[in-house]
Amino acid sequence: MTLTAEPTTTTAVATHCPYCALQCGMTLSPEADVTPRQFPTNAGGLCQKGWTSPALLRSPARLTTPLVRTDGELRPASWDAALDLIARRLQELRAEHGADSVAAFGGGGLTNEKSYLLGKFARVALGTSQIDYNGRFCMSSAAAAGMKAFGLDRGLPFPLTDLADADAIVLVGANPAETMPPFVQHLRGANAKGGLVVVDPRRTPTAEQADLHLSPAPGTDLALALGILHAVVADGLLDQSYVEDRTSGFDAVWRIVAGYWPEQVERVTGVAAADQRRVAALLARARNAYVLTARGAEQHATGVATVSAWINLALALGLPGRPGSGYGCLTGQGNGQGGREHGQKADQLPGYRKITDPAAREHVASVWGVPAESLPGPGRSAFELLDALGTEGGPRALLVFGSNVVVSAPDSARVAERLSRLDLLVTADLVLSETSALADVVLPVTQWAEEDGTMTNLEGRILLRRKAVDPPEGVRTDLDVLAGLAERLGQPAERFPTDAETVFTELRAASAGGPADYSGISYERLRDGEALYWPVPDERHPGTPRMFLDAFAHPDGRARFEPVEHTGPAEPPDAGFPLLATTGRVLQHYQSGAQTRLVAELNDTVPEVYVEVHPDTAERAGLAHGDLARVTSRRGGTTARVRCVGSMRQDVVFLPFHFPGAQRANLLTNPALDPTSRMPEFKVCAVRLTKEDGAE
Ligand code: SF4
Repeated sequence: MTLTAEPTTTTAVATHCPYCALQCGMTLSPEADVTPRQFPTNAGGLCQKGWTSPALLRSPARLTTPLVRTDGELRPASWDAALDLIARRLQELRAEHGADSVAAFGGGGLTNEKSYLLGKFARVALGTSQIDYNGRFCMSSAAAAGMKAFGLDRGLPFPLTDLADADAIVLVGANPAETMPPFVQHLRGANAKGGLVVVDPRRTPTAEQADLHLSPAPGTDLALALGILHAVVADGLLDQSYVEDRTSGFDAVWRIVAGYWPEQVERVTGVAAADQRRVAALLARARNAYVLTARGAEQHATGVATVSAWINLALALGLPGRPGSGYGCLTGQGNGQGGREHGQKADQLPGYRKITDPAAREHVASVWGVPAESLPGPGRSAFELLDALGTEGGPRALLVFGSNVVVSAPDSARVAERLSRLDLLVTADLVLSETSALADVVLPVTQWAEEDGTMTNLEGRILLRRKAVDPPEGVRTDLDVLAGLAERLGQPAERFPTDAETVFTELRAASAGGPADYSGISYERLRDGEALYWPVPDERHPGTPRMFLDAFAHPDGRARFEPVEHTGPAEPPDAGFPLLATTGRVLQHYQSGAQTRLVAELNDTVPEVYVEVHPDTAERAGLAHGDLARVTSRRGGTTARVRCVGSMRQDVVFLPFHFPGAQRANLLTNPALDPTSRMPEFKVCAVRLTKEDGAE
């Protein structure tokens, strides 16, 4: 066994960062050292996470042998013993309780090939409808709002470099200065012209750089969008000809928005009416302008409506589908875009097809060589799936790939309790994450630089990530794991290939004719360096860097205004829980922190959870900077060190969500779900703040 990253080649490999959706270009040397590479999204830049990413290749924490729980302890086992055990238990549970008694959970960091094969494995080898993924927690509200408005969802329907010529950019609920720092250079053009507006309850490092920072109370940014739209119309800034020629539904929206005049909205949001009018004028007078949303707008029980409100604003100004302007969503996870296109989502089949669409079922079933009627229907969404585990009628076995739900799911104590009820919990993991520590079987798998695969970045551009180093001895790919299990479950070996390019070739066929059509993309074209943005419907097609220039994807070619109302947070503050907690990321960590907490340079800088509080709020709770505070919601509490931050709203506290155990910010969060996207309300819940020694 070796724990060093063994070179596969003697030359450096051009690749991409393993973490976020910016997918920065980097070069990995045979010794697994990283240097930044010129690539349009990062233009030669990397953040600390990218610079330190090889550390995990060499980490002594890597798992190198399957682990099987015996007498309460996870103990080393052979691959055959582990896979035989899983397959036997899955078959027993299916025989006793039906196919939906076994479930799968994927992740937005999995390659397109893994996402695709996992979806196929669930529907064909397990025959279950019970599959979803953690992207439901990240991007699904913008995806649903984009589908409603444009008939198609691609995070950015234009290359990121288009932002350089913008005169005005409104960034809603995004903090790229911390989450994806090289992104910030794309904002500089608008910033230099005084046109960068950041909407965020916190004065984040991104907000610090803005020309105008709007700080609405958490859960009120929908109302803010309505107020700005009201100002657009009232001040005569509506793009009347665009609205008439390219959209439908404006009148229904205006009937609602007419009641949201800026002074009224100021009372709801705390954002001055004059600032709302200023943003309206800034966007309307700009030659090129963009509205961009991210998790801050999405992670609400009204996330789809909130994103729709910002899209309505962009449509009223004639931005989407106009060269040099537009609306876009900043995808977070590395393959957040591709991960939502190829079938690991409860309601989807590959190519961004609906699993309820008879023609889609026929097409995909024919590629898979199975009868369409054998494919299950839609299953439960991510939180609903986790919440059903071990309950009456819910799944009794769960296979987890690329996700650490014990830390990343909302109301995480409840999720951990549900996991403990399972008859079988299996994880495929790099290291013993908090979820793997609870598993019955843990399978050690490869990571980014140890395998081939494609990713789809936040622009909808497909990237080839090539194998650069050999994995530690004893580790297998997720594709190997799926193939090994499928064969034991009676599937023909050729139905579950283990070679990434072979899987991608099948994915191309499965996606052909679908909204996210990859059929014209080949590894060969990607190896040749072609910049391919989907849809790419044939091998001579150049790809689609800019969407909607001629028409939107609805049958009539028009974009849809969506009438939406402000309702506020699902859990407003009250006497018992008088503050609003919001959660987010820090520069040094990624998602649940399972990877970045193992990188010393990152973890030494931010080793524990903290709570940002306005100094007056802290003082009222008897707390000072550096004290330990107890933050408590209706679901649970966490202990965090106080950071007094003068720019915080007095009614808001902030906690990063990367930390495990008793430090989990998600012990607090509210699993209230958006009715359409089923995304939980991570961004706001009611809490109280006390001294740690006063904890209940
Ligand atoms: S984490 Fe994101 S921003 Fe940082 S280097 Fe990686 S891809 Fe780039």
